[in-house]
Amino acid sequence: MESQKRLLYMKIGVVGFGAAAIGFVSEVMNSNHEIHILERSKDIYSSSISGIRSDGKIFVSSTMGGELEIPISIQREVVDFYIGKLNEEDKKSVRTGVSFDSKSEFFENFYAKGFEPVNSMFWHIGTDKLGSVLTRIYDEFSQKRNIHFHFNSRVEDIDFSDNRVILRGRDFEADFDYVVVAVGRSGHSLIKGVTSKYPEIVASSNTVDIGVRFELPDHLVEEINKEMYEFKVRLKTRTGYTVRTFCNNPSGKVVLENYDDFVTVNGHSNSDGSSVNTNFAILCTTRFTEPFHDPIGYGSYISRLSNILAGGRKVILQTYEDFMQTKRTKRLGRVKPTLPESDFILGDINLVLPRRISVSITEFIEKLSEVIPGVAYPDNLMYAVEVKFYSNKIDNDRYGNLKFIGDCSGHTRSITYATGHGRLLGSSLK
Ligand SMILES: Cc1cc2nc3c(=O)[nH]c(=O)nc-3n(C[C@H](O)[C@H](O)[C@H](O)COP(=O)(O)OP(=O)(O)OC[C@H]3O[C@@H](n4cnc5c(N)ncnc54)[C@H](O)[C@@H]3O)c2cc1C
Repeated sequence: MESQKRLLYMKIGVVGFGAAAIGFVSEVMNSNHEIHILERSKDIYSSSISGIRSDGKIFVSSTMGGELEIPISIQREVVDFYIGKLNEEDKKSVRTGVSFDSKSEFFENFYAKGFEPVNSMFWHIGTDKLGSVLTRIYDEFSQKRNIHFHFNSRVEDIDFSDNRVILRGRDFEADFDYVVVAVGRSGHSLIKGVTSKYPEIVASSNTVDIGVRFELPDHLVEEINKEMYEFKVRLKTRTGYTVRTFCNNPSGKVVLENYDDFVTVNGHSNSDGSSVNTNFAILCTTRFTEPFHDPIGYGSYISRLSNILAGGRKVILQTYEDFMQTKRTKRLGRVKPTLPESDFILGDINLVLPRRISVSITEFIEKLSEVIPGVAYPDNLMYAVEVKFYSNKIDNDRYGNLKFIGDCSGHTRSITYATGHGRLLGSSLK
């Protein structure tokens, strides 16, 4: 009887308002449930960095973006949902394409050199258009009588009492029948607290991706950029590590990614381009075995080391030639960095990256240059470090009325998968 009542009406708390929460709320907004969204930012626009506030490249792929199964039909609906929030004029500026159609010449060339070309479709909205997408979503949701937004509400603790879930912040406490935690990667301190209190909800954790942001003039990659805009390839290197490209930004800019106690690099681009350079990440997937259990600590340590050598909250920039010769870069060549000068120092990345990672990355770049010759030009730029942290994988079946969705659950890494994860959970409550 009790469970029947709960299905008809529940007071639901949603922690965080990013891609996963958007997917969840879009499914339950027409239900009888009363939904309270607690977001730490002061409003919809000023939330922490993530793909729905920066860049906005939406992928549909069965092999990348997350480690759960999101049917392609749902992924396509996610794309339509976001693109549908743009006005007619802005829809025209969305770049779209297919990465590695198996019939393409690039597919064959990469394949012949030992790469695994990753097939996906993508739509690029651009940083400049994402604000209006979020505004429309917010307006649509907040018009519903059962949906309540609470900004400036950073949840710091989660507890159970009498089958209810309690959320606590500095100046509030509220209890719910059902709670959905969707705090992304930026909410790792909350997740760390909850998983130390309830360690039984952690299913596994052992991976971190570490590497560099690579920058080169647009004309060197013009052909592949024109054909697929975002090229994604993986290579199993001789060290046993897999190295991959990630987040290609034609005519884009390199930016800093700010964490509480260190900075790393990232990249983005506007819908109409903003520079004459292309940048992409080259990441080495590092998996640990017993007894090590702290991949986040490992990635943070290496990031901090790069900042220490750079003399503060800065990253290290080096030319490819100097990296290969393991000597500090003193002078740049023809490629002008798009990251502001105040955010980097010229240095030697070999002092930061463990040998196994730098050897893997070197092999990757040399092989890449066999397919795209300009990649190994001596004055191309490398910024270190770029790190992709994977959250602990959470077992969502452990506590029936406390669920984790999106990147903080450790099961997703992209807008499409995070939104899809939210939708799947939301539809199970309807
Ligand atoms: C710079 C950058 C660019 C990216 N670009 C792309 C891209 O182009 N394409 C792509 O597919 N993916 C991209 N990604 C990855 C993508 O953004 C994420 O996979 C996706 O947004 C995850 O959705 P989420 O809802 O789990 O988390 P998020 O979208 O990050 O949302 C989490 C929300 O929770 C809030 N929050 C955090 N802690 C708390 C707390 N304690 N209390 C209350 N609220 C809290 C945050 O403010 C935020 O609004 C990018 C990531 C970054 C960092």
